[in-house]
Amino acid sequence: MQITFIKMNKLALVVFVLMVTLVVSSETEDAHDFYKYHSLIKKYGNSLDEFSEIVTQNSTEAKVRKYWEDRKQIMAKDQSYRFTRDVPTLTPDEEIVNAYLETLRNEVIHIDDSPLLLEFFEGQKIIKDTELHEFFKKMPKGGEMHVHLEGAVALDTMIKFTYSDYVYFNVEKQEFKTVPKGLDEKGFLRCNELRQIWGSNATFDNYLRKIFVMQPEEISSKQIHEIWKPFEGKFILNDPIIHYYEFYKLGLLDFCRQSIRDGIYIVEIRHASGRIFDENNKILSLKDEFELYKSALEEIKQEYPDFQLAIIVAALKNQGKQHVRDQLDSYLYAMDHGYEFVTGFDLVNEEDNVQPIHNFVEEIIKAKQGYPDFKFYFHAGESNRRSNENLYDAILMGTKRVGHGFNLALKPHLIDLVVERDIGYEICPISNFILGYTQDMRWHPGKQLISKGVPLTLNSDCSVFYNYDGVALDFTYAFLAWELDLKDMKQLAINAVTHSSIKPKAKSMMLTKFHRDWNKFISSVVESHGDLSKIV
Ligand SMILES: [Zn+2]
Repeated sequence: MQITFIKMNKLALVVFVLMVTLVVSSETEDAHDFYKYHSLIKKYGNSLDEFSEIVTQNSTEAKVRKYWEDRKQIMAKDQSYRFTRDVPTLTPDEEIVNAYLETLRNEVIHIDDSPLLLEFFEGQKIIKDTELHEFFKKMPKGGEMHVHLEGAVALDTMIKFTYSDYVYFNVEKQEFKTVPKGLDEKGFLRCNELRQIWGSNATFDNYLRKIFVMQPEEISSKQIHEIWKPFEGKFILNDPIIHYYEFYKLGLLDFCRQSIRDGIYIVEIRHASGRIFDENNKILSLKDEFELYKSALEEIKQEYPDFQLAIIVAALKNQGKQHVRDQLDSYLYAMDHGYEFVTGFDLVNEEDNVQPIHNFVEEIIKAKQGYPDFKFYFHAGESNRRSNENLYDAILMGTKRVGHGFNLALKPHLIDLVVERDIGYEICPISNFILGYTQDMRWHPGKQLISKGVPLTLNSDCSVFYNYDGVALDFTYAFLAWELDLKDMKQLAINAVTHSSIKPKAKSMMLTKFHRDWNKFISSVVESHGDLSKIV
């Protein structure tokens, strides 16, 4: 009887422990767990110690299991913001290529991110030489949305132009002149004469290679405005060569062909009207200017029928209101005269050193009246200052894309608007780095904006000024510095089609073409690396 009483007390204690466990542990709240413990009581009878241990163990296991479930959920929630949220999972072949990309990444970043930490031009030499960079050169990239042709025509092509007998240079003034009718001005000699005086073509050409491109000492101050001075100096230096109409067309054709070789079939160029001149050194009329683009596009389309070119008229804010009004008129002229490849309007210059966008509100609102198709593609937020407000104006005016938008990360409501309105984002990582907006590519805001779902595209801006051609190097840097994967790279390329300014019908055709090219590319990588499946 006494034994039975003790046993009953023990049993009551077990039940008590169980009830406490049920109350304190959210895991044991459901009936299923109650019956589980009830059956355990039956199994282990009165052995309290043994049973307590089992209860504790199960409770810990359940808590740990719940912890991992919660962890999975919170991570999935975070991933649901990422700009790849709508991309289907990778195909088996893409998985293989993704794993291959990982091995290529590890080959580059073998010692603590080293090439990313070196002085930029030193690191660039290493990165340009990698298999990873070769991969991104070949990868279809959809389109390039942000280019200034003056800074994007290949260095070799620019030097070739200086072999024309009507290109002159004043060494002391560091000034070129292109005068087809001949120039007799003190201090100016033909580049070809200078080649003879300097002893060899190579000596003079190497000098040109140096002055056409940003040099380490020109960016070493890390002061944005100080770096912009030599940067703008490159535009001023090559302006008299690139804006000679024959060179401009040749340069444009050269850039388009090179883009096609790099897997880019949509090229969008920022262009300020009224700078291209003819053999009499007379500025081309608007009609002749747009006809030049039209004939270049027709020429390219004969070779590559799918190719798309878009021109965005870009006014220079530092030239004042009359200039902005003239550029607005250029855009309206293009719309009135059926130049459909002219797709939008922009305002440019070093943002923190010139008038803000809102200073031109009146001119812009007046110009767009009666033009429902008037579209904006503003440079805005190319700044790391919180006080730079251009993004507010660009978004309020309904910009279709944003050029740079570096300081968006400082404006949380605007991030939401950009995502909601699906405003394309033209990020130029190397340009931002060279011009001093970030000192470490790994902390470029593009990395965060991708996580927040901003539809990014990658662009080169003025690659030749930064000592490279095309946009593949921007893809390579972003991949390394932002810890991207194949899915991200594919999304960047898709965005450059879906957010291009070309007509909807052409866009859908280009998207189909992109997917076809992409699948072909993935198959070719898998085929040319037969043993890749081993690394997955
Ligand atoms: Zn730009």
